[in-house]
Amino acid sequence: MIQRGSLYVVSTPIGNMRDITLRALDVLRAVDLVVCEDTRRTRSLLTHYDIHKPLISYNDANKTSRTPSLLAKLSNGESIALVSDAGTPAISDPGFYLVREAIKHGINLVPIPGPSAILAALVTSGLPTDRFLFVGFLSKKSGRRKTQIRSFAEERGTIILYEAALRLPKIARDLLEVLGPDRQVVLARELTKRFEQVARTDLENLPETLKEIPLKGEFVVLVSGNTK
Ligand code: SAM
Repeated sequence: MIQRGSLYVVSTPIGNMRDITLRALDVLRAVDLVVCEDTRRTRSLLTHYDIHKPLISYNDANKTSRTPSLLAKLSNGESIALVSDAGTPAISDPGFYLVREAIKHGINLVPIPGPSAILAALVTSGLPTDRFLFVGFLSKKSGRRKTQIRSFAEERGTIILYEAALRLPKIARDLLEVLGPDRQVVLARELTKRFEQVARTDLENLPETLKEIPLKGEFVVLVSGNTK
């Protein structure tokens, strides 16, 4: 069932522990090793499903030093599952580096699809789903951020951003300045968790909306595309 020497890119829940596929559980039970971001977080998921596997942390600080030994294990026939703290690995997290290095070394990659905050937010936003652009996290610096916003100002599809709660007021200001007041905005907060909330507004009213909802937890921000 499991292919030796393969890197399995396994999606895990973005909040609700039950959002994990049967196949993801099969793979996590069968691999030799699980590579994750935070070992405590992944250990608690695996323990919940009575899975007991060696875990190795893989993050921005250690990814370059850890990668060669992981590639050596794969080349020796070990099978490895790559997971992230939440959702689909390699989407705005360090797993991308391992995926790219594995491809360079001729390792077989197998996706085990499942939750990702991008699609969970998009399908409940009410914004067009037929075309969308995911831009991940914008820069922490306002000047660079505005340049990034200008780069997608003409995009016709729905624009999807990841953002830390406390930076939202600044992002809101820059989005309004560059894109103008009319675009619709959806804030998808704490999806699949206890305090899940979806707020719909426009860029003009976004600063007010941000005063009404708790700036805590995890957010996806969706902005309607350029329809002019
Ligand atoms: N790999 C993950 C995925 O597939 O969604 C995303 C990893 S990225 C480091 C983390 C960001 O995803 C958060 O800052 C937030 O923007 C978004 N996110 C993750 N879980 C979320 C949730 N339950 N509700 C809303 N946004 C979430």
